[in-house]
Amino acid sequence: MGGNLYALDFDGVLCDSCGESSRSALKAAKIRWPWLFGQVDSAMETWIIDQMHILRPVVETGYENLLLVRLLVELQVPSVRKSSVADGLTVEAILENWSQLKPIIMKEWDEERDALIDLFGRVRDEWIDNDLSGWIGSNRFYPGVADALRFASSQLYIVTTKQARFADALLRELAGVSLPAERIYGLGTGPKVEVLKQLQEMPEHQGLSLHFVEDRLATLKNVIKEPTLAGWDLYLGRWGYNTEKERAEAESIPRIQLLDLSDFSKKLK
Ligand SMILES: [Mg+2]
Repeated sequence: MGGNLYALDFDGVLCDSCGESSRSALKAAKIRWPWLFGQVDSAMETWIIDQMHILRPVVETGYENLLLVRLLVELQVPSVRKSSVADGLTVEAILENWSQLKPIIMKEWDEERDALIDLFGRVRDEWIDNDLSGWIGSNRFYPGVADALRFASSQLYIVTTKQARFADALLRELAGVSLPAERIYGLGTGPKVEVLKQLQEMPEHQGLSLHFVEDRLATLKNVIKEPTLAGWDLYLGRWGYNTEKERAEAESIPRIQLLDLSDFSKKLK
C-alpha cells in the first residue's frame, strides 16, 4: 500500500478552457442582443476575449460569461448602455465587485438566469456539432500536464462540473490520455464533497494518501467544512482561475497548500 490518489479538477487545473467559454459566450451574446454589436469590430472582439481571461475567476456558472460580454461592450460603447453601473466602470472593478454588479445588471437588462443558461448550452452544443475540431482546438492543456497525466503512477480521478463526455473528449484529443469512464466524475454526479466521500470509502482506496487539486478557493473551503474529509490533502493551483486576493487568503488557511504548475506535474509521478 502507501500509494497516492489524486482527485483533479478539470477546468483551470488540467485544461484552460477560458478561450472556449469566452467564444461561446460571444456567440450567444450576439444571438441574444444583436443590436449591441453594431459598433463591435474584430479588434474589439479580441479585446473582449482578452478581458474575459482576466475576469474568469469570477465565473461560477457558464451563463455569467454572457453577462460579462455584454458588460464589456457597454464599457466600450456608451451608446448601447442600459445599465446604471457601466459609466466609469473598469475591468478591475468588475473583478472586485462582480457579486454586487450581477443582480443589478440582470434586473436592469431584464434578463433571467434560466433562459441564459439554455441559450449558452445550445450555442456550445451547436459549435460542437458543427465543428468538433474547432471546438477542441479552442481549449488547451496547461504546459506539462498532458505528460504528467500520461506517466502518472498515482491513481487519478477527474472531479469536474463539466459534462464527463466533454472532459473525456478533451483528454483524448488534446492530452492523448484515455481514462476509464469510472475515473471521470462529471456534471450530474453530485457536489464535489460528495464525490470525495465516495472515493475515500471505496475498499480499493484504503491505505492510499488522498489529494485534491482545485483552482477554486470556495470549493476547497467547502471541503474543509466536512469533518469526514479531514484526511484529504488540499491544494490550490496558482495557475488556474483564481485571483491574487484569493491566493493570499489561501496562504492564511493551514489546510490548503498552494501549488505551482511545475510542482503539480512532479507530484503526479
Ligand atoms: Mg476549476
